[in-house]
Amino acid sequence: MKVSVLGLGIMGAGMARQLAQKGFDLTVWNRDAAKAAPLGAAGARVAPTAADAARDADVVFAMLADDQASRSVWLGEQGALATMRAGAIAVESSTLTVDWILELAAAVNSRGVGFLDAPVTGSKAQAESGALSFLVGGPAELLDRVRPAFTAMGGNIAHLGQAGSGAMMKLINNFLCGVQVASLAEAIAMAERSGLDARQAAAVLGAGSPGSPLVRIIGQRMVDRAYDPNFFVPLMAKDLDYARRTFARAGIELRSADVAREPFIAAERAGFGEKDIASIIELLRR
Ligand code: NAP
Repeated sequence: MKVSVLGLGIMGAGMARQLAQKGFDLTVWNRDAAKAAPLGAAGARVAPTAADAARDADVVFAMLADDQASRSVWLGEQGALATMRAGAIAVESSTLTVDWILELAAAVNSRGVGFLDAPVTGSKAQAESGALSFLVGGPAELLDRVRPAFTAMGGNIAHLGQAGSGAMMKLINNFLCGVQVASLAEAIAMAERSGLDARQAAAVLGAGSPGSPLVRIIGQRMVDRAYDPNFFVPLMAKDLDYARRTFARAGIELRSADVAREPFIAAERAGFGEKDIASIIELLRR
């Protein structure tokens, strides 16, 4: 299977490396070419444009920041769809709005190309170790054809329904993640300010009813002040905004997402834009 990966940020780089290690005929492209060089050294072909990367591919994955990036990489002048052949499959794995996914699916299908939305859960460590979970929307027959590549990047594949259902599930998922991280920052800041031992407080929260995997991992990073990026602050603000807009169209007002988004926006403004989401606690320590 000839596979291309477009977008080699934190997640895309790990995903591409797994495909290279597991013997796929791999082509990669990234807007900033410097991020593609290590994949070239690992055996991938490095393409000069998204269009060039997509030309001979059976399956093209995109792992990009947001709707705007996705639009330009698939549909732009040097975009992937300009060259994909009929019968190939486009897989959009970024966290995007359902509206954009549906528009993209229609554009892709109109060219005779198959489409799956397949956003992921798991973060940098899971991308680097081939342990991502895929939330897939689109025809089962296309999923079966792409399954070997999904399996190379992660064992857990949930087929949620037609195109857009993966994106919908991902926004529901990240809405809860964003609200948890925002409230966790306040909880740990309060523990610190009250004189409690923050490590002990984080351990109590992690072991108790609020102790989701996210609360345990991010709580640890907050007390360690370990902000090397696994998930950039602005991307969580984006996810909460996309969730808010998507829920609103279904008549559900996401008041908790509105409130939770504020510390991520404030942290970006305060210079934490290239730090991990755990760094939002620093605003409460000031
Ligand atoms: P990242 O490290 O910031 O990577 C973003 C990628 O998008 C880079 O390749 C970047 O290219 C590219 N990009 C941004 N704007 C572009 C544009 N206008 N045109 C072309 N390329 C553009 O982010 P990430 O953590 O890998 O996340 C990627 C996606 O996965 C996001 O939708 C995110 O929400 C989602 N996600 C992330 C995690 C996580 O834990 N990190 C987990 C699940 C899902 P350059 O290198 O040239 O800037």
